[in-house]
Amino acid sequence: MSKFREFFRQNLLWVGLIAVAIPLLAHLWLQYKSLSQLEATLPYQRKAYLRRYLFEVVKKVITTYEDQAEATLGVPSTAFNHKYPNPDYDPSTAIDFKQVQEHFSKHQFKGARLQFVGIISGRDEPSYVTISFYDPRSGTFIYPKESGQSKQVEMQERSAAHAAAANWMAMIMTKSTPKSLRPTVDERDPKNRIIVRPIVNDQSQVVGVAGMFLDDQVFLNDYLTPAIAELAPSWFPDEYRDVIVTVLDQQDKLVFANQQYEGKAFEVGWQFQFIFTDWFLGIRMRHMTEEEWSRRYFLTNLAFSALTALVLIGGIVLALRTASRAMKLSQMKADFVSNVSHELRTPLASIRVFGEFLKLGRVKGEIKVREYGEYIETESRRLTQLINNILDFSKIESGQKTYQFEQADVEQVVNETLKTFEIVLDQHGFTVHLEKPQQSLPPVVIDQEAIAQAFINLLDNAVKYSGEATEINVALGQQNGFVTIAVRDFGIGIASEEREKVFEKFYRVGNVLVHDVKGSGLGLSIVKHIIEAHHGKVTVESELGKGSTFVLHLPTDAGSMPKPVNPEGNSAFGHNLQISSQTGS
Ligand code: ADP
Repeated sequence: MSKFREFFRQNLLWVGLIAVAIPLLAHLWLQYKSLSQLEATLPYQRKAYLRRYLFEVVKKVITTYEDQAEATLGVPSTAFNHKYPNPDYDPSTAIDFKQVQEHFSKHQFKGARLQFVGIISGRDEPSYVTISFYDPRSGTFIYPKESGQSKQVEMQERSAAHAAAANWMAMIMTKSTPKSLRPTVDERDPKNRIIVRPIVNDQSQVVGVAGMFLDDQVFLNDYLTPAIAELAPSWFPDEYRDVIVTVLDQQDKLVFANQQYEGKAFEVGWQFQFIFTDWFLGIRMRHMTEEEWSRRYFLTNLAFSALTALVLIGGIVLALRTASRAMKLSQMKADFVSNVSHELRTPLASIRVFGEFLKLGRVKGEIKVREYGEYIETESRRLTQLINNILDFSKIESGQKTYQFEQADVEQVVNETLKTFEIVLDQHGFTVHLEKPQQSLPPVVIDQEAIAQAFINLLDNAVKYSGEATEINVALGQQNGFVTIAVRDFGIGIASEEREKVFEKFYRVGNVLVHDVKGSGLGLSIVKHIIEAHHGKVTVESELGKGSTFVLHLPTDAGSMPKPVNPEGNSAFGHNLQISSQTGS
């Protein structure tokens, strides 16, 4: 169980990522499947939707015509004279034209171009057919024999009216009661489309007929066009301007289009009912077929889902990375506390023991006394070095580390530092080879104490991680505007993937060789911080088992030297540095 927990802790990022990625991918896959299914069915749904829109348009127009046929043709039955036997029979009085005219003028309808009323009457019984035409524009009846009429009824109109009214007329003769009073339509002659309505008396017997000829242009322009325009925005809120509605006749000839278009006349269609039944109403969208529309819908949705998934994964990776870093850091901090306590305790114990021996006078001979004294000195030096590092680290963390920059000779700083470090080196049996530059080094602006501390940290590491080797090379040089201090050891080396990490705070390489060596994990992070505050850099070259070379690069160029007043430090700790300088050049 604890192994599992350890594995989980160490691979938090991957475990978390997999835990999120698998359901997310499954979700994406399902989304893809359902979207492609939708893509296949959507055109049909969309076509059905277009058809429903047409249906609504047709319904709106036809209902108007039906209602108007009821109102306009609903001539009162009292206008039809049926009195038998009628010795004074005169066909011209069979219809009360005044009453009809009054009704027609009260119930005008723009869609009717010609109206008529009809009756079968006679002396003894109904036998004489009369159909009289009424011009709604002038509001008068048209008497064919009289001259000076504004409108003449053509022969074809006359016979069309007779044919359309024939059935109802027959019912006048037989005094029938019709089953339905709904108006009927006769469109056998497409030039003369007629709506006819029976007129019935109180006993529901047909006493006359009223009819109207429809005006095609008025139908298209005054009723169909407004219905299309009125309904489109609510049915197609975003694309109502792209709706193309066409009307084709039986020969597929275009009769009407609500706007100009290219290409196909329609995608889906709908037949008119009641009137204009030989016309075909079609619809399509200007830019896209329904299949293209579905494809775009599919792609947009899929892209959006993929984008959301990506953002989600990105966010989770970030969160997990932060969490994993925080966990690692907290682990490193815990290790740091235990390492430092150990580092403090060991030299203190030695100092106390040697001190007690000296106090009790148990140490005999001058050489021994000197030896013990040296131990005490080196151990206290180690303690000072460690405490300096810890104090420096805490100053760096809180952004309070300051530097005293002054012009100095690097060679001199290195020599003096080596001298103070000599005892430690001797004690561990190390020999240091100092490689001096061919030409004398230019002066640089540095904080001498800080550079000495960085150099000691490198030397200290070289001693700690040398393994069996006991040689250290220190080389001074000059390179591309930098004075360099290189510290080379022949020890355990650093694996390539660790080389960047060793400069992180608290970081310690986790292999067995390093495990035996105590340390705080602060040394190199402080080195990096110090050198970057000098606008320089630290580099490392290393080969596992063969040793490492750390090089401090300090700029000689005046432009890149630290400025005396609070310049921005590029810190490994993410803090700005406060750098103060007494001299500068
Ligand atoms: P520490 O107190 O652990 O030495 P440092 O920050 O000085 O902390 O170094 C970080 C880690 O880098 C060390 O724990 C060690 O693993 C590795 N390291 C540093 N210097 C050397 C070196 N000269 N040779 C091999 N490994 C090194």
